Formats: sequence, structure tokens, C-alpha cells
Amino acid sequence: MQSPIYVTKPMLPSPEAFHRELSSIWESHALTNGGQKHEKLEEKLKAYLKAPYLSLFNNGTIALLAAIKALELSGEVITTPFTFPATAHVLAWAGLKPIFCDIDPVTMNIDPKMIVNKITAKTSGILGVHVYGTPCAVIEIDAIAKDYGLKVIYDAAHAFGVELEGKGIGSFGDATMFSFHATKLFHTAEGGAIVCRDSQIKARIDLMKNFGIVNEEEVVFPGINGKLNEIQAALGLANLDILDKEREERQKLHVLYCEELDGIPGLILPEMTPTHTQSLQYFPLRIQGNLFGMDRNRVHDLLKERNIFTRKYFFPLCSDYPCYREENGDLLPIARQVVQEVLCIPFYGTLGMDVAKMIAQIIRSFSQRGTP
Ligand SMILES: *Cc1c(COP(=O)(O)O)cnc(C)c1O
Repeated sequence: MQSPIYVTKPMLPSPEAFHRELSSIWESHALTNGGQKHEKLEEKLKAYLKAPYLSLFNNGTIALLAAIKALELSGEVITTPFTFPATAHVLAWAGLKPIFCDIDPVTMNIDPKMIVNKITAKTSGILGVHVYGTPCAVIEIDAIAKDYGLKVIYDAAHAFGVELEGKGIGSFGDATMFSFHATKLFHTAEGGAIVCRDSQIKARIDLMKNFGIVNEEEVVFPGINGKLNEIQAALGLANLDILDKEREERQKLHVLYCEELDGIPGLILPEMTPTHTQSLQYFPLRIQGNLFGMDRNRVHDLLKERNIFTRKYFFPLCSDYPCYREENGDLLPIARQVVQEVLCIPFYGTLGMDVAKMIAQIIRSFSQRGTP
């Protein structure tokens, strides 16, 4: 490739459309603390995500931290090792101990069959991640939570717009976090949200993100600054207008990649299932080296030599970070296997069908080469 191709490229509205959104901010001089743009974006996202209640945040990590605090989790929280560092780190920041549980070999999400073994007297919650937008086993997790009196929080940073049996993905569990970071499908440069099903929890979360300030003379608990500002909200509003177009383009790319990469031994493509809709945030391949003829790391390196930058999301496992390694006696065999296989390839609306086809053909050519 002439110029480098990265795994993603954030969508952006035209400068004119962004300026139109900004102009009323220049009139009002209201820059943050729940201004008009913020309120409008909150309403629009609530509808888009079919969310019962939604609170905007300055980023997904702080959103998750605020939800964990608002739900008063304590002691140990069972989570997945196969995720972005933020998922485990927020538990540590909240003074909780992440307990890593192995994943399902097909969905790559926390395996409900393994959760029960991890429950102790100190367990207060389950933190699942809808990895690559595939929903966790929400029914099974809900049943376990009911049996043991646990709270359930989901990290839906990859699952913007996903619906499971017609319901917004945020309708499951006690709270669900979305990230609007620039690398996600929908973004506000930096941003995030918590969706929940209970108006009282929403009220607590809103207090949590504004220092616990109830009014000029009352501060009720140690909250944090989690507010999304008006400039971010303006970008979000302008991006919402072009979101469906972005999704259409990605849908076409998804189909093209699936056609071009179909039937290659040792190459597992993201599965389309009838029960839930796709987030179209990533296009994750799984490369089984012994069958494909080359391992994932080699594919990554050879693509890089051709100026194509893929990502080994989520290598290494959180349970292998030095800060969590000691606490984790479990070898987590499935996660350990999966993390050697995954590779996210370039996937974004403006990539272009020709370029995508070329990338697919290069990957296909590796498969016939055998072990180098
Ligand atoms: C991006 C991401 C986050 C963090 O979101 P920020 O908005 O960047 O703070 C958390 N969890 C997962 C799985 C992510 O991909």
C-alpha cells in the first residue's frame, strides 16, 4: 500500500455541519454542566439505543467507574480477562479485586458455566464485556446473579446499537457502559454513557458524575467529574447525522470481507446470528496457525510490512498484566488460546471496497504459503 492503512479511522462530519452545531454554543457561552447540546444528545442516544435511562459521560472509563460506585459494589467482581485494560482497571480504581473467569470459545465472552466456581463470600458483582459487539449470555448471567444476589454490569464499548431479540443491549443487567472514544463506531472524540433500567440509579449516577453535588448547599457523597462538555456533545450530534451512512458502508465491507475470506482452513470469520444485530465496530478474524499455515503474529507482521496495520485486540490478557498476575491462579485455557488467534483488520466506512478486497486477497495468499 502507498500510504499506511490503519485498523480504524474515526468518522467525522463536514466542518460546515460541525460549525452549524457549534454556533449556538458561541451564542449561549454555555460550555459544560449539562447544556442544551448535552441534553439533546442524551435524548437522541436514549432513543437510538432503546435505553430506559441514559447518562452521558466524559469517557467510558469514568462512566464505568461511576456505575460501579453508584451500585456500591464491594470486595470481588468476576470479569473477563479478554478485554481492553479499562475494564479491569476500573475495578482496581474502585478498590475492588477483579476475579478473572474464562471465556466461551465461540462468543469469546465470559463463560456463564465458569462464573459459579468463582463466586466467594466476597463476590458482589459480575462485569461482563460484549466483546466485538457479541452479546454476553445475558439470560444465564441474570439467573446466576439472582441466585447469588449479585449486581451485573456490562461493558458495551463495542456494542453501540446492538439489539438482542429486539431490545437495546443496554436493557440487560443493572447498568451498561458505552464508550464514545474516537476509535469506536459512534464517537464524541472522547465520551461515554451509562444506560440503566432504574430511575433512582440514574439519579445516583448523575450525582456521581457531578461531584455528588445535589444543590448549592448540599454535597452527598464523593462523586467525580464525569461530565461530557458541549463541544463533545456538538460533535456527537453532528456524528449522529452521519452514523447510518457509516454503518451502511461498514455493512458492505463486512459482506465483502466475508465473501473474499470464506472457506479458508484455519480462518474463522465473525459470525452473523439471527438473534442479535451487529455493532460493525470491528472485523475480528481468528487465525488458527496450524490449519491456516501461518500464525496470527506472522500475519500481523507481514501485513505491517505491506503498510497494513492490524491490531491483536485484546492481547495480552488482563490476567497477565503484572498488576493482576499474582492474584490469578487460574490458567484460563480458552482465553489463552483465543488471545493468540484474534486479529482485527482495517474496518471503517471510508476504507473503500477496492482496498478491502486487496487486504483480503493478501490474507488469502498467506494461507497457501504454508509455514514460513
Ligand atoms: C474503549 C474501551 C473502553 C474504554 O472506553 P474509553 O471511552 O476510552 O474510556 C472500555 N472497555 C472496552 C472494552 C473498550 O474497548
